[in-house]
Amino acid sequence: STGRKRDITVADTTCTYCGVGCRFDLYGKDGEVLGVRPADPDQTPANDFSTCVKGKFGYDFVDSDERLTTPLVKEDGEFREASWDEALDVVAERLTEIRDEHGSESLAVTSSSKATNEENFLAQKFARQVLGTPHVDNCTRLCHSSTVAALKETVGYGAMTNRINEDIGETDCYLVTGSNTTESHPVLATRIVQNVRDGADLFVFDPRETTMAEHADQYTRTKPGADIAWLNGMMRHIIEEDRYDAEFVEERTKHFDELKETVEPYTPEVVEEVTDVSPAELRNAAETIADADTCVYGWAMGLTQHSHGTRNALAVANLALLCGHLGKPRSGLSPFRGQNNVQGGGGDMGPIPNTLPGYQSVEDDEVLDKFEEAWGVRPPDEVGLRITEMFSAIPGVEKTVSGGDADDAYGGDDSGGGDSETSDSGSDDSGGGEQERGTDDPSADEGYTPDNTDLHGMYIVGENPAVSEPDLEHAGEALAALDFLVVQELFMTETAKHADVVLPAASMAEKYGTVTNTERRVQLVRPAVESPGEARTDAAILQDLAGRLGFEWEYGSPADVMDEINDLTPIYGGVTYDRLEEKENGLQWPCWDEDHPGTPYLYDEEFNFDDGLARFVPSELPDERLPAGTEAYPFTLTTGRVLYHWHTGSMTRRVRTSMQHVPESFVTVHPEAAERLGVADGEYVRVESEQGDIVVRANVEETSGPDVLFIPMHFVHGAVNRLTKEEFDPTSKIPQYKVTNVRVRPLGGD
Ligand code: SF4
Repeated sequence: STGRKRDITVADTTCTYCGVGCRFDLYGKDGEVLGVRPADPDQTPANDFSTCVKGKFGYDFVDSDERLTTPLVKEDGEFREASWDEALDVVAERLTEIRDEHGSESLAVTSSSKATNEENFLAQKFARQVLGTPHVDNCTRLCHSSTVAALKETVGYGAMTNRINEDIGETDCYLVTGSNTTESHPVLATRIVQNVRDGADLFVFDPRETTMAEHADQYTRTKPGADIAWLNGMMRHIIEEDRYDAEFVEERTKHFDELKETVEPYTPEVVEEVTDVSPAELRNAAETIADADTCVYGWAMGLTQHSHGTRNALAVANLALLCGHLGKPRSGLSPFRGQNNVQGGGGDMGPIPNTLPGYQSVEDDEVLDKFEEAWGVRPPDEVGLRITEMFSAIPGVEKTVSGGDADDAYGGDDSGGGDSETSDSGSDDSGGGEQERGTDDPSADEGYTPDNTDLHGMYIVGENPAVSEPDLEHAGEALAALDFLVVQELFMTETAKHADVVLPAASMAEKYGTVTNTERRVQLVRPAVESPGEARTDAAILQDLAGRLGFEWEYGSPADVMDEINDLTPIYGGVTYDRLEEKENGLQWPCWDEDHPGTPYLYDEEFNFDDGLARFVPSELPDERLPAGTEAYPFTLTTGRVLYHWHTGSMTRRVRTSMQHVPESFVTVHPEAAERLGVADGEYVRVESEQGDIVVRANVEETSGPDVLFIPMHFVHGAVNRLTKEEFDPTSKIPQYKVTNVRVRPLGGD
């Protein structure tokens, strides 16, 4: 080949964006990603040949002029360039000072689903071993922590039960709710649409008539936040008509009677009154789903990001159990996870306040003994702060969330479960619970709360809470009030601007490691380009810093980190680099040892509880939290993603294709509402809530009902979280992004 060709690197890797985990060959040269080519279909279990627009064209950010290329230290309010030695010395010194003055618990670490499994493992180890703090969390808190809590209580593992291609792609029936699948998980959506064309039934329940709804046999418009009503209504109808899977319920579940009692009041009439779902639509969907041999229940943040998000996810799990759609191929509970490594890095690797890697409780002495032996330091044994609580634990900042308000009444008086084998493991985001087993205990651990904790220093790896937290004014005040903030990032994000030290990090296109997709499949990422300037991988930075703080980590490669993960994390026991390098379609956990083939779908024989039985955990609609516009703020605002962008936009706002298609934020307004307000398509409007206001362009369209607005979450100008407020699900502390009362004013009006 020519010299020019020889300079090109071809990396067989996994997409950096969503949780589908598409694999392809990434071509790179001189720091620039040249393009993407489909890989061998045998090696692309989630996507065959497909990619979406982000996976294919979303790489301009990698060699953007705005990449951070050198460490920055703030002096007199201004950043100046520094060497790695100087910057890391400052970080080590300040973290030590704060720890000496205020204790380890005054420090917090947030990790990133944009980092590899190995890097997330090291981030939580850095928090627990090096800093000695229990406060470590990540953005999973903001997307599916409520799902994880619900699945742990009902079936045992907080994860998707099934595969993408063989199960989702081949099922007889779908219930998709709270997921704009086509835009958020495009390749997975393609599988669904192909299968629907081949005859599968598709029911979409959603406040927005998404593209997926266009392919549905039945699209039902729902009111934001009222999902439990129609889900319980379906169950009531299925039980009344005797269409449930009695054998499955009898042999594989418990607490059916509590479920029956809880759903009883949800008659078709009540459901219609609460959610606008007609009795005919309710019955049709319920009967088709119940009668289907196989069914996949797909959901995302439309269901989870509510002040009762855990209850929502419980209701879906109850429905799947009632119909016997678990523990077999082509069926299952399918929370569509957002980021490419949110399942692995955000959950499995344990950068969460109540569990060590592999969902092993921080309150279990045997687990702590094991980690102490490996690390020479006993990890903190109490549940730390969740990310959403951290911003209320900074001295001088208003406490907008407090601890101790667990959701102790999902429905029945003892949460529908409540039998005596309750363990003491963490409650909200542990996928497995104590010793990999689920727990019947729905109550959140008290642990640390913003009321009893003062945070003085934060170490943020690749997160952007200054744009992603609800009520940005509060988040900004909190970040500014910290004594010391370190941010490890690709760009000078809104969060990094608050930092005292900014450390330039490598992107996913520049590193070697593993990521775990939404179907629990661990896959490799490989570097296609070198990092710009002096940027380093998150792992290299943390290892260097650990050394400066007295802990010589001796990892020579990510594979060395994985060796430690194998030893300490039973569900990853057999996930080795040798196997992954050889077996390009990855390994799905649980994978207990090197001879274990991995687990394509969960609960084949038993659920993840000591007695092997799934639990119905009935959930009721909390009346007091039903969305209802007020006179002053008559619209309900809901937020979400669009196809061309990604999360807080720090990557995709630097991607030409994305900016050509969606250059700025917008609000969708129904034509009736637009007429009432005197707003024309494309006109700028001011959207106001009790928290704040933003100016965005109006897209007049019929996607939502006349009282519902939608604004994407990807922009700094017109950042939608200036409007959202800090209302949280008591169990998981996920914010209620999906229901905010707002009003709209044409600009210049008033
Ligand atoms: Fe990447 Fe998701 Fe698109 Fe696949 S569907 S290419 S994983 S963003």
